[in-house]
Amino acid sequence: MPDMASKTIISVNNLTKKYGDFEAVKGISFEVKEGEIFGLLGPNGAGKSTTLEIIETLRDKTSGKVIVDGFDLDKDPGEIKKIIGVQLQTSGYYPGLNLSELIELFGGLYNQEVHPLELLDLVNLRDKAKAKFKELSGGQKQRFSIATTLINRPRIIFLDEPTTGLDPQARRNLWELVKEIRAKGTTVIITTHYMDEAEILCDRVAIIDSGKIIALETPDRLIDNLVAGGFERPKEVKKANLEDVFIHLTGHTLRPEN
Ligand code: ADP
Ligand code: MG
Repeated sequence: MPDMASKTIISVNNLTKKYGDFEAVKGISFEVKEGEIFGLLGPNGAGKSTTLEIIETLRDKTSGKVIVDGFDLDKDPGEIKKIIGVQLQTSGYYPGLNLSELIELFGGLYNQEVHPLELLDLVNLRDKAKAKFKELSGGQKQRFSIATTLINRPRIIFLDEPTTGLDPQARRNLWELVKEIRAKGTTVIITTHYMDEAEILCDRVAIIDSGKIIALETPDRLIDNLVAGGFERPKEVKKANLEDVFIHLTGHTLRPEN
């Protein structure tokens, strides 16, 4: 986990986004520290993807200021693009190409020398190098799409709901991958609807509701604050839950089909 003194790599100030008359993002401000895993949590429609896509330079903002690694979004969007990794839309994966060829292709688009097998190794897909994207399982697809965010050796990667729809093991495998990526010094911004995941992965989380940040803290402090306010969970009945059973029975290890 990065220490508190670490440098700010993203700073968002009073950001707003209007779609016609509807204000989807209502003046939010937050900072992301270099090397942290920062979570954006919130119900569907809260404005998470809009916020991420604005920082990613993929969507225009209505007002506010965004600085990424010292570059002002208004002045240097091109510089920002160079240092970030964004999950590409799966529709952009040419169906005729295998994983290795896709990485070569993306490397060419980014003007980066790539080593497909090394990259596939990192996401545990070396044995799928000759497979087509459509032949992968859900977890494998997500891991491949995370591999594509790393092609330009970015300083920051953005993952928008990377574990939605995955089975419990594939989800855990992805957590490990995200931790490995961060351990190599990459800052990670992630959205998720799974609170267990946010608690395990994120150094800090911002909770967004209806376009406003209503909390921003470490998961630990958010929980402590709730408890300090008198909240008590209904009595824990059993020491395990059905997910524990599932993982216990089916194992933690990476399976070929995951
Ligand atoms: P989240 O990712 O938190 O689910 P989004 O950022 O996708 O939320 O959407 C925030 C709000 O903005 C939602 O009410 C959504 O319907 C609306 N919205 C998103 N994209 C558009 C768009 N292109 N045009 C109009 N409204 C949009
Ligand atoms: Mg979204």
